[in-house]
Amino acid sequence: ALAAINFDIAALAEHSVPAQADPISPAHTDLATYRAHGGYQLAAALVSGEMDAEAVLATMEDSGLRGLGGAGFPAGHKWRIVRDQPAPRLMAVNIDEGEPGTFKDRTYLERDPHRFLEGVLIAAQVVGTEAIYIYLRDEYHGCRALLQKALDDLRAQPPCPLPHIELRRGAGAYICGEESAMIESIEGKRGEPRMRPPYIAQVGLFGRPTLEHNFETLYWVRDIVERGPGWFASFGRNGRKGLRSFSVSGRVKNPGVKLAPAGITVQELIDEYCDGMLDGHELYAYLPGGASGGILPASLNHIPLDFDTLQPYGCFIGSAAVIVLSQLDSARDAALNVMRFFAHESCGQCTPCRVGTSKAATLMQAPQWDADLLDDLAQVMADASICGLGQAAPNPIRCIHKYFPHEVGEAPWPGDLPKPRNSPLTEQ
Ligand code: SF4
Repeated sequence: ALAAINFDIAALAEHSVPAQADPISPAHTDLATYRAHGGYQLAAALVSGEMDAEAVLATMEDSGLRGLGGAGFPAGHKWRIVRDQPAPRLMAVNIDEGEPGTFKDRTYLERDPHRFLEGVLIAAQVVGTEAIYIYLRDEYHGCRALLQKALDDLRAQPPCPLPHIELRRGAGAYICGEESAMIESIEGKRGEPRMRPPYIAQVGLFGRPTLEHNFETLYWVRDIVERGPGWFASFGRNGRKGLRSFSVSGRVKNPGVKLAPAGITVQELIDEYCDGMLDGHELYAYLPGGASGGILPASLNHIPLDFDTLQPYGCFIGSAAVIVLSQLDSARDAALNVMRFFAHESCGQCTPCRVGTSKAATLMQAPQWDADLLDDLAQVMADASICGLGQAAPNPIRCIHKYFPHEVGEAPWPGDLPKPRNSPLTEQ
């Protein structure tokens, strides 16, 4: 009976979103093509002992590759920490790409799934993980079909003995992109973030030391090991090092995933990678890191976009989802939209986030904000929330106060700036 129930639930979930006619991207690199271009040779050399795991680990550390899911923790350092933990060790891969505006993981997965899988195998071998759990966003039907086929092909023609790999489906919860909530979900529990310490690297999946990585971090491993640590670090601009995959959307002529030097500014990104702003639109504001990373004004279009560079401005780059707004958009509307999203996606485990996001969304609807009350609320959410969702939720409030006070009645509207058509202040 249980099997029948499970089957029905799965069938329901399958049909809750229209299925794609051809779920497997015809443009992707298949196993034969990938291997014809040297694919899986590194993984095989590592497993056979031809290649030294310690040398690969040193390459990863020297490359400066950082976790590209948003946290930016140095990848090689994380490998060493987990490798030093007692066995058995596990790996969890996060492809729950749910940050609004982010679509880089999907783009790379649809093009070259085996490059990612080889990164998984290399990391597993170097760190010594016994099983790998890949957690894929449920809405990515096409990616799931493609990844399942890639795994099936790999198992049919393995380049080396393969570790145990499981492909797990998410269930549409944004919070399961948070590493510990994802791990809870893989374990079959509600996707609620854990209190830390202990950290995932010490006590993670099923209580074992766990190497947790975002898809894109592993996607770059083969290139870094093959080309050497200096290759990745040779890119960069404005004093920063490495490459970043920016998911650019909004009022630009040519949106999409832009692989650009770390430290590029939003203006350079728009001008050099997106063919400029749409006709009739001027840069007014931008979200540098999806919903969580705050909102910045056009006057700050010269800041290097990278980990650590946006904190002084009350923002962060996260998964590098850059959403571009023009003079026809309202920053306060964007902030309200983001807060409603947080209120909807809060897992509800802790009161400052559960109640705070909902209360803030209500207060932010007023044409003129109650600045003191919203500030109090922002402080409590930032100080007392368990995880990054609640801690980052005040970002849009603080950014509007700081950079767009004219939009919430806290400063006169600049004379040279047209009011957006849908601004509550326009309607007053
Ligand atoms: Fe859940 Fe929000 Fe608390 Fe995070 S901060 S644990 S999402 S209630």
